[in-house]
Amino acid sequence: MTVIHNVTVPQNVKTHILGFPRIGAQRELKFATEKFWRGEITEAELVNVGQTLRRRHWAWQAEAGLDFVTVGDFAWYDQILNAAALLGCLPARFGFDAKRLTLAQYFELARGNAAQPALEMTKYFDTNYHYLVPELSSETTFDGGVEWFFHEIDDAQTQGHAVKAVLPGPLTFLWLAKSKQLGYSKLDHLPKLLDRYTQVLQKLAAKGVKQIQLDEPILGLELPTEWIAAFAPTYQALAGHGLNVLVATYFDSVESHAQLLADLPVAGVHLDLVRAPEQLPAFIALWPRNKILSLGVIDGRNIWAADLGKVLVTIQEVKTLLGQYLWIAPSCSLLHTPVDLAQETQLDTELKSWLAFAKQKLAEISVLKRALNGEAVAAELAANAVAQAHRRSSPRIHNPAVAARLAALPSDADQRISPFAIRQAAQRARFNLPLLPTTTIGSFPQTSEIRAARAAFKQGKLSAADYDAAMKAEIALVVRKQDELGIDVPVHGEAERNDMVEYFGEQLAGFAFTQFGWVQSYGSRCVKPPVLFGDVSRPQPMTVAWSSYAQSLTAKPMKGMLTGPVTILQWSFVRDDQPRSLTCQQIALAIRDEVVDLENAGIGIIQIDEPAFREGLPLKQSHWAAYLAWAGEAFRISASGVANDTQIHTHMCYSEFNDILPEIAAMDADVITIETSRSDMELLEAFGEFKYPNEIGPGVYDIHSPRVPTVNEMLRLIAKALDVVPADRLWINPDCGLKTRAWPETEAALVNMLQATQTARSAL
Ligand code: GLN
Ligand code: ZN
Repeated sequence: MTVIHNVTVPQNVKTHILGFPRIGAQRELKFATEKFWRGEITEAELVNVGQTLRRRHWAWQAEAGLDFVTVGDFAWYDQILNAAALLGCLPARFGFDAKRLTLAQYFELARGNAAQPALEMTKYFDTNYHYLVPELSSETTFDGGVEWFFHEIDDAQTQGHAVKAVLPGPLTFLWLAKSKQLGYSKLDHLPKLLDRYTQVLQKLAAKGVKQIQLDEPILGLELPTEWIAAFAPTYQALAGHGLNVLVATYFDSVESHAQLLADLPVAGVHLDLVRAPEQLPAFIALWPRNKILSLGVIDGRNIWAADLGKVLVTIQEVKTLLGQYLWIAPSCSLLHTPVDLAQETQLDTELKSWLAFAKQKLAEISVLKRALNGEAVAAELAANAVAQAHRRSSPRIHNPAVAARLAALPSDADQRISPFAIRQAAQRARFNLPLLPTTTIGSFPQTSEIRAARAAFKQGKLSAADYDAAMKAEIALVVRKQDELGIDVPVHGEAERNDMVEYFGEQLAGFAFTQFGWVQSYGSRCVKPPVLFGDVSRPQPMTVAWSSYAQSLTAKPMKGMLTGPVTILQWSFVRDDQPRSLTCQQIALAIRDEVVDLENAGIGIIQIDEPAFREGLPLKQSHWAAYLAWAGEAFRISASGVANDTQIHTHMCYSEFNDILPEIAAMDADVITIETSRSDMELLEAFGEFKYPNEIGPGVYDIHSPRVPTVNEMLRLIAKALDVVPADRLWINPDCGLKTRAWPETEAALVNMLQATQTARSAL
């Protein structure tokens, strides 16, 4: 409290968000952007949609009583690309003038054009959001670019809002950028980059903006020392330009940098207390009492309503120490959550009372602020407490049978009966496959007919029997084509699956599905992850009927096809009331049941896909081992209920394995199929050096493009693979599933793949 003329003025905490999803509650931005790309709307119409969305989202922030609206979180495709366009560091190969960049050119950077491939795209830290990677070379300049950011600031101000600007921090921006050029460090760009940031700050100050948030999530990584050392001089350079700088960290603890952050010449720092609540005491111990500490107490990565009573205990304590220097916020940008729970009309009220999407999170922040300021929010807090209590005890969430089963799980449940060599012999005797056996990764083209049938079935326009018949016809077609091609281990083609996680989630207990729970993945692409809210179990077999039907059509061994526990976990909104490792074990048991049922139905080869295995790696490398241990164990639990002569495959579609090869090997799949063609089999060298013990199918052709690879190209890759993998452990297959391809190129490519295999076999 400050005493002014004997009147006590309460020193209120401030509230803000780090960013808001831009796609719109109805995915308006996605649809408008795609229409613009197709030439169906004009640039002005698209610009208008963007402005409407920004204004709406600012209005929501203002209505929730936040002290600032956050401006700069909007992007037509990606916020990192927007930053590059603002700074003026666009790759020279496009020949664009950053200052006069048109929206059409901006999209060419994001999506490529006839002459130039797009900027590379990669995951933003450990999220499912993909950013465009800025390309730097020693020639790169930062001479400034488009003024879009400033126009958005102006617009927010004319709407009457108090503005907090947000940009990627300079060090995080550089870290996320890449340079193909050797012999210099990205940090060499820092002085020029900071000149441009300084200009941006000065311009904001001239517009009357008081606050800027600079996102430096790289502080949550285990950074090389020269990058840590760069923080103090960087923020020294950005000090004194008339703006209060808030350095935002998120996604992991930055406790080891507490002193560094306390000493930075900035107005304050944001901490993610959802991911890393344990870091707070270290900050409290040394935090200057006149420096802002923004506490991220509402989960920006997940859809659960916060336990407001619990949060209040923490922030009330901090408020007594910091007073007005305490700010309250979500843990990170709300970009990673869906927009508005109010649209969900098919979720029951109880489940909804446990959830909060971005708009509801604004309301949570508002309640916290009013509670801290002594306003009357008893009703809101009571309703929240009731919902939280129900969630803690609800029989919909807690299934004692699942807990009992896990408790009784024998300690060797994650081990096959015998070691690989014995299994391999049993499987060879059973399947008698040729050398270099051929297979595919699972899906075949998802034609518009298939999608139309599924849509009609979901809308009740196609009966279950007719849908079933349509899918069976598709399976029969896929099996016949594979027999004609001469594929040794055919698949059923996955026609009946909308999505490899949703398909299983819909059949497992413990999952719910939203109608509008979309989250931006990249550009105009959004995903709608299932909500994993309760103990997971499998009421009945999920895939056995389809696989058995497919097997009945061929003499070849039909490969059963499942999604693995780690991937189901990774691609869902996961409950936050128990460790992820435990939830993953529950999924593993459900998949294990399916594996055993497939085996009992005579399916002797079963693939358990784990394309998201690597994605789960923690940001700090020192935490990798713990994750890899439980994730690997969950996979093995799912795979180990079968006899020696049942062959378990797994599939992963990325090409960075080198650093986790021992753990991949420890998953002990009999066969692993991986993406390799795009890296020209380079990745296999690591497998060779490490002496990967089991069988491997390195993809011999890239399925991401319609281009049909020639026999010779594939022969060359097979020869390269044979250099490192003995012939009796090598499989031949494409890089990934074929669902995004059309039939003509699929058949042509597989004909060539089989031809290449024949030639390679005869040369052995
Ligand atoms: N079995 C899946 C498919 O073929 C695997 C997809 C994936 O790896 N992402 O489509
Ligand atoms: Zn794949």
